[in-house]
Amino acid sequence: MIVYAHQSPGSFNAAVRDVAMQELEAQGYKVLVSDLHAMNFRANATQDDIIESRAFQYGDETMHAWMEGRLSDDIMAEQHKVEEAELVIFQFPLYWFSVPAIMKGWIDRVLTQGFAFSLQKMYNNGIFKDKKAMLSFTTGAIQTMFRPDGINGDINITLWPLQNGTLHFCGFQVLAPQIFWSPAHCPAAVRTALLDGWRARLKGLLTEKPLNFAPCELFDLSFQGGFMMWPKVREERESQPYGLTTGHHLGKPLPPDNQITAQPANESSAKPACKK
Ligand SMILES: Cc1cc2nc3c(=O)[nH]c(=O)nc-3n(C[C@H](O)[C@H](O)[C@H](O)COP(=O)(O)OP(=O)(O)OC[C@H]3O[C@@H](n4cnc5c(N)ncnc54)[C@H](O)[C@@H]3O)c2cc1C
Repeated sequence: MIVYAHQSPGSFNAAVRDVAMQELEAQGYKVLVSDLHAMNFRANATQDDIIESRAFQYGDETMHAWMEGRLSDDIMAEQHKVEEAELVIFQFPLYWFSVPAIMKGWIDRVLTQGFAFSLQKMYNNGIFKDKKAMLSFTTGAIQTMFRPDGINGDINITLWPLQNGTLHFCGFQVLAPQIFWSPAHCPAAVRTALLDGWRARLKGLLTEKPLNFAPCELFDLSFQGGFMMWPKVREERESQPYGLTTGHHLGKPLPPDNQITAQPANESSAKPACKK
C-alpha cells in the first residue's frame, strides 16, 4: 500500500511513487495507492467519521464505532487496505518537519483505537507487528542542513515522532526511511540517479532489517510503574557510550542514526528482554 500526498502529477513525489508501483508490481506484488489529494481525503477528525454518533468523545467513540462497523466509508475503505497490506509506504514532501496535513489527517482518522492500537497492544507487541511500514519523502533542505551540526538539527529527532510515535506504536516493523534530499535544487542527472537508487533499493526492500526500537519488555507496563524503564535496564546502560534510541537517550549522546539505518541489536539499541 502506498499512502501518497502530493497535489501535482508532475511532481518528483509522483515520479517516486510511480517507480515504487512499477518495481513492486514487477516483483509480483499487488500495489494499492491511496492518492489523498485526488481522493479529496478529509483531514479533520470530526463527528462525521462516526455513523449514528452518540456521546462524542472522538477517541473512545471511534473505537466503539470500529468495533460495531459504524465508521464512515472512507475510513473503513482505508482500514481494509491496511489490513491487506504487507508493507505500507508513506510518500510525501516534508512539510514543517512532518507529513502534510492531509496525510496527518489520514493517520488521525484511519489508525483508530482498537483497529491500530490499544494499551495492551503497542510497539513490538502492536497490532501490525507482522507488517512493515516506511517513510519515503522529499525535502526542500539539503542533507547537511539536517545533520546534528546543521541548521535544522538532527534528522533522527525529526523522524522520531512519526517512526516511533505512530508507525512503531501501532506495531509496524519500520524500514529505514527513503529520503530524497532537495530534488528541486539539484541537476536533472542527480534526480535521475535518485530514482535509480530507489528502484535498486526496492528490489530487496521487503527483506531489509527494520530499525531498532526499545522493546516493551524493557519497561514496567503498569500505571503504578509509570511505564518506566526497569531500573536494571537503566543500570545496564550506564556503562554504554550511547542512549538506547533517539527518544530513550537517557541523557547520553544519541545512538548514531538510530532512525536512519538499522543497527545490529547489540550496538545501539535493544537488548534482549529484561525483567525487574
Ligand atoms: C507548507 C510547506 C512546508 C514545508 N516544510 C519543509 C520542511 O520542514 N523541511 C524541508 O526540508 N522542506 C520543506 N518544504 C519543502 C518541500 O518539502 C519540498 O518543496 C518538496 O519536498 C519537494 O518535492 P516535490 O515533489 O514537490 O518536488 P517538485 O518541485 O515537484 O520536483 C522537483 C523537480 O523534480 C522534477 N521531476 C519531476 N518528475 C521527475 C522525474 N520523473 N525525473 C526527474 N525529475 C523529475 C520536477 O520537474 C522538478 O524540477 C515545505 C514546503 C511547503 C509547501
